[in-house]
Amino acid sequence: MNKPRIAFLGLGIMGSGMARRILGAGFPLTAFNRNPEKSALLASAGAAAASSPRQAAAQADIIVSMVADDQAARAVWLGGDGALAGAAPGSLCIESSTVSPGWVRELSAAAAARGCDLLDAPVTGSRVHAASGELRFLVGGTAASLDRARPVLSAMGKTITPLGPTGSGSLVKLINNFVCGVQVAALAEALAMIERSGLDTAAALEVLTQGAPGSPLVRTISARMTASDYTPNFFLKLMAKDLSYAIQEGRGLSVELATAAAALGDFQNAIAAGLGDNDMSAVAEPLRRR
Ligand code: NAP
Repeated sequence: MNKPRIAFLGLGIMGSGMARRILGAGFPLTAFNRNPEKSALLASAGAAAASSPRQAAAQADIIVSMVADDQAARAVWLGGDGALAGAAPGSLCIESSTVSPGWVRELSAAAAARGCDLLDAPVTGSRVHAASGELRFLVGGTAASLDRARPVLSAMGKTITPLGPTGSGSLVKLINNFVCGVQVAALAEALAMIERSGLDTAAALEVLTQGAPGSPLVRTISARMTASDYTPNFFLKLMAKDLSYAIQEGRGLSVELATAAAALGDFQNAIAAGLGDNDMSAVAEPLRRR
């Protein structure tokens, strides 16, 4: 059977790796990126480059978006040259960006009005997992849509977790990232305290990373903070976005995410210090400098 044609929108840190996995698995791929240099790069690897999301979607059976936030997703799906304007009825839309469940529901309604189904399928994992096809997809939507998406999701990820109706994947992703953001902010504050006190930093961090607080994330981020290596794997400004969306969702459920709000304060201070385009581990820098 012929493989479905895929349109991929957004070739950033995550999208570029994911789109290459789709190409590698032999799916016909048309790619769009706002900055056309990134789609030109993918064209040299065998994709067709589209000049708009609309043009990309017009060539596709399945459309995947992996862009920064609600605003970017709105632009690529619903803008004048947006993907839904080009999508044929019956196309399957997959929103893999980390966005708010409210936006997912709005997009789902707009897709339905075009005769298209939508899955929200954000991911856990980072740059290396995107490049190696080891992401985990957190999926909201119908079982029938997921069955249709499974071959392409399997090209990009090793685990697919259905979580319920439309919006469930996005909600679990925000809860996941709120817990991650709190851990990273707590580690940043701990590191500042260790350094300021004159403790042996390596010995103190070993206690944390090898002990109860040593989650895989804390271990990874501790190494980056220690080396002051802030090469972006996950942009600091995007973690601030995720914490803001999680706080907003919590409020809608009458759950005050006090720890997320405190962590967001640390991330906002780092953005104010000009660090938003660094890796999220740079959240430690303003605390260390103080
Ligand atoms: P990124 O490298 O900053 O890529 C962002 C993408 O969004 C780029 O393609 C960018 O286009 C596009 N974009 C931004 N604003 C736009 C707009 N107004 N209109 C059209 N396109 C726009 O970020 P990333 O790390 O790949 O993250 C992508 C998504 O995955 C985010 O929702 C993020 O929260 C989520 N995520 C990231 C990670 C991670 O570890 N990096 C892990 C899991 C989930 P340009 O190239 O033109 O700027």
